[in-house]
Amino acid sequence: MTAQLIDGNALARQIRADVSGRTAALKARGIQPTLAIVLVGDDPASQVYVKHKVNDSSETGLVANLERHPVEMAEADLLARIHALNEDPAVHGILVQLPLPRHMDSHKVIEAISPAKDVDGFHVASAGALMVGQPGFWPCTPHGCMKMLESIGYSLRGKHAVVIGRSNIVGKPMAMMLLAQNATVTICHSATADLGAMTRQADVIVAAVGKANLLTADMVKPGAVVIDVGMNRTAEGKLCGDVDFAGVKEVAGWITPVPGGVGPMTRAMLLVNTLEAAERSAA
Ligand code: NAD
Repeated sequence: MTAQLIDGNALARQIRADVSGRTAALKARGIQPTLAIVLVGDDPASQVYVKHKVNDSSETGLVANLERHPVEMAEADLLARIHALNEDPAVHGILVQLPLPRHMDSHKVIEAISPAKDVDGFHVASAGALMVGQPGFWPCTPHGCMKMLESIGYSLRGKHAVVIGRSNIVGKPMAMMLLAQNATVTICHSATADLGAMTRQADVIVAAVGKANLLTADMVKPGAVVIDVGMNRTAEGKLCGDVDFAGVKEVAGWITPVPGGVGPMTRAMLLVNTLEAAERSAA
């Protein structure tokens, strides 16, 4: 069996086109959806990520204001800056690029963002809203995975989904989103005794660990949907996921590639969240 590919690039393109249209409609009403991106320090990976976020935004008609602060910025000054952005009616979304310098408490900083502008969905209020099924912002990566499942018309009702990884930004919110669609959900993690015994029962597997080749063909039930969130580098420096793609694609029914899978969807969902923040403020 050869799995069908879930093309994250193609789906992200569709989502961006939808964002462009809705942004134009808001602009016609005099509202310019605006994202404030706060970068502290000069972490090289962060520089690349924020550049993408700025470019993605401008391509879809959103405005992204990137502000750079020196690595030695005091935490109190960052908190004051976030409070100012919270109060600014022209700013709809606020994103603080992580990781922050070591002298800062990331949790405290994220909690300073108004939940109404928390487009990354990392605030405790956003996590709580997801948990209890109230409107709020969903973290971009798991939200993008849900869109991928939706794109293939997959009904999760009564299906068994196994999420590998339990981080607050991917694994846990992913599990909540799957549960909300009436899947039966198992969360596996580093202390799971027999990962393969769990994944072999799964109709849907979401791998979000950060270990190349963690999920191999013998761990996958024939026909299962496999979503690969992992981002790793091979010895040759090539980007790869957590899934042994060559092997698993012969067993799975659907599979997401890396690159070109969850990555572009994560980027697209930030645009969706920013637009929605602007739409909600205008409602
Ligand atoms: P994390 O390090 O916070 O969490 C990793 C999780 O994996 C932990 O819950 C840990 O218990 C679990 N784990 C570790 N070893 C395991 C094992 N052998 N078996 C089962 N579980 C194990 O990572 P994160 O921030 O959730 O990111 C996970 C991966 O997803 C990373 O590769 C990251 O780069 C990638 N990621 C990709 C995107 C994207 O847009 N594509 C976005 C976010 C994260």
